[in-house]
Amino acid sequence: MQGNRTFTMIKPDAVENNYIGAILEKINSAGFTIKAMVYTRLSKRDAEQFYAVHKERPFYGELVEYMSSGPIVAAILEKDNAVADFRTLIGATNPAEAAEGTIRKLYAKDISANAIHGSDSDENAQIEGRFFFSERDIH
Ligand code: ATP
Ligand code: MG
Repeated sequence: MQGNRTFTMIKPDAVENNYIGAILEKINSAGFTIKAMVYTRLSKRDAEQFYAVHKERPFYGELVEYMSSGPIVAAILEKDNAVADFRTLIGATNPAEAAEGTIRKLYAKDISANAIHGSDSDENAQIEGRFFFSERDIH
């Protein structure tokens, strides 16, 4: 995965609200191709590990509880300039501040239950993708 791939998760609130289809439609319409995808659920330990970079943040405990509270969809996506373009598509972390038409503006509840994750760098896209998928799963 170099500059043309990113990693995403449709988070528990969006899965619970039956937004998987609508969100995948937005992702495909924006020009992203799905290279790997899984419907799964993070254990508490998985979520702790995945979000280890945020360990010192005050919301870490809440984030781990929330991300392990129900099923998610994880996927690797491909498009030119994938990481930056996907961050634009999903919108600001806090849906109240997200631009019109972004996934978080349309489908997120609040800053903790914010519908979707998008990697913040090429390096993290690769690390996060490998957390869920083996080389064999990635096409
Ligand atoms: P993500 O990494 O999920 O794509 P992000 O990069 O926009 O989101 P981060 O700063 O990486 O935001 O925070 C990771 C996640 O932690 C956020 O998506 C959100 O669910 C949660 N979070 C961030 N800030 C807060 C906060 N102030 N209060 C509660 N939860 C927060
Ligand atoms: Mg982030």
